[in-house]
Amino acid sequence: MIGESGVGKRTFARLLAQALLCKGAKDEEHKPCGECRDCRRFLSRTHPDALFPAPLAKEKTIKIDALRQMIDTLSRHSLEGGRRVVVIENAEKMTPQAQNCLLKTLEDGAAETYFLLTCDVESALLPTIRSRCRCVRVQPWEAGRIEQALLKRGIPADRAKALSAYCEGSLGRALQMQEDASYWQARETVKRSFLSARGTASLPAAAQALKDQKDNGDRLLDILEQEIRALLHAETLNDSDRADDFPSAWQSAPPASLRRILEAILTARQWKNANVGWAALSEGLMQTISEETKTWQV
Ligand SMILES: [Zn+2]
Repeated sequence: MIGESGVGKRTFARLLAQALLCKGAKDEEHKPCGECRDCRRFLSRTHPDALFPAPLAKEKTIKIDALRQMIDTLSRHSLEGGRRVVVIENAEKMTPQAQNCLLKTLEDGAAETYFLLTCDVESALLPTIRSRCRCVRVQPWEAGRIEQALLKRGIPADRAKALSAYCEGSLGRALQMQEDASYWQARETVKRSFLSARGTASLPAAAQALKDQKDNGDRLLDILEQEIRALLHAETLNDSDRADDFPSAWQSAPPASLRRILEAILTARQWKNANVGWAALSEGLMQTISEETKTWQV
């Protein structure tokens, strides 16, 4: 299962694994039933035929030892005398040695054994592994569905709307952003600085807001870019009900002007990579934005 971080690959893989082991429902369509003995043991992580090779304690990668443990278990008979499922989450964490070890197992093709791998970027896996897997792409969610899912989790409506616009189709990322107080602080800073630009008079206050933000620079640029892209997107969709807390004057920004600002953000990033100081860089960006906004803000 391939797809961006947070789109639900792990949930999907676990559900599929549980369905493969479920003996409760009569037809495949209603699996997993969630109630039979196999389902219950799968959910409590005590099913003897469900294996989850993962990094061993204190390790960041999935090393060959973890794979050997799994292969050792597979070499014995299935404990329940039926299907066995191996779920490797974040398969890109496997070292090349571990991947080669897995490859041999895949080639041997043990009967009734299913391997489910999840991975953010498929190029992180060896081509030999990829060619032996059936690739299922998990697509990003539509903003509306994410918003509904967030509302169901009790997140306030305006926050749910903003999160669904910025999470790039990933419910996992939306939930992570919701938990992250520093993200909301950074958004506030972006609003008080870059997005408050109105001609030269606004520059000192903006510079003040950005003064101590050097270490936070990348994040501020990311958020600003997200905001501008969301505006451009709303423009093409003719979406007039952006109910979040975006400064309202920006709603009338012409797309050409927004694109010039995006270019300026890109330049600012290049400067940052070339070690141009944050003060000079943020001032330059502010200057461009205030010149742009002057042309359409009253
Ligand atoms: Zn079941």
